[in-house]
Amino acid sequence: SIVFLNGSYMPMDEAKISPMDRGFLFGDGIYEVIPSYDGKLVGFAPHIERMDQGMDLIGIKFGYSQDEWRAVCENLIEKNGGGNLGIYLHVSRGTDSKRFHAYPEDVEATVFAFVFEIPAAPVADKAVAKAYKVSSTEDLRWKRCNIKSTALLGNVMHFQQGYESGNNEIILYNADGEMTEGSACNAYIVKDGVVITPPLDHQILPGITRLMLLDILAKDGSIKVEERIVTMDEVRNADEIWLTSSSKEIAPVVELDGQPVGDGQIGATWEKAQALYSAGKYNY
Ligand code: PMP
Repeated sequence: SIVFLNGSYMPMDEAKISPMDRGFLFGDGIYEVIPSYDGKLVGFAPHIERMDQGMDLIGIKFGYSQDEWRAVCENLIEKNGGGNLGIYLHVSRGTDSKRFHAYPEDVEATVFAFVFEIPAAPVADKAVAKAYKVSSTEDLRWKRCNIKSTALLGNVMHFQQGYESGNNEIILYNADGEMTEGSACNAYIVKDGVVITPPLDHQILPGITRLMLLDILAKDGSIKVEERIVTMDEVRNADEIWLTSSSKEIAPVVELDGQPVGDGQIGATWEKAQALYSAGKYNY
């Protein structure tokens, strides 16, 4: 495939960075994944805004405008033949001459982007949707999960726990037994027709799918949404559980720790919400 590195396009196997890059040594960087279906980007502006906020939070001074990022995305889509693609954007603090924790002063950020194939967007139909199975465990990541950092070891280890137990994802909860999110997605329950998801704070990533879904549901008005603490007792007694991410959109969960969620079938509220999301997702 053709990738973008520090201003140039090149075949993947020609893209080289220094082993002294702080992204490599420290996981010192910020990233994004933006889905694109037949050349149409989903949530481009909010994805770039989150990336800018992440770089501000960790003091990386790098300023591509939205137009510059859009050109990178569009060029990569075109050079790689289009279709259904995830576009990965990555800015690390850059390559230093020494391994020293403090932020170096006059180092240029490393910018890297590549695309990978993703499945067709999910269809809002219970009969054909992929049903997810998840396990759960205490969230052992750090206290800055709002930063979309490339240092993903905590997430990787949690995902692996779910994967090794034969599940598609893992739902995390804090020391007080409150649901935070999944290892690579946001989490929701549905109870008596109301969608409930934890509020944005340092314990979760402010997902762009979450942002768009809550906005779409608010504008539609037919499904009530609450942003509040969700205990694991509530999760275990939920009618439906959903996970959201850019690549999954809204994923219905039918099994939690080997027990059926609700009646063990994909729920009616999921179908309605996914239909609304599918109809509205290109408006952001
Ligand atoms: N939480 C975590 C930990 C994630 O890694 C992701 C993205 N894969 C999400 C939530 C969902 O974010 P988005 O909807 O922006 O993809």
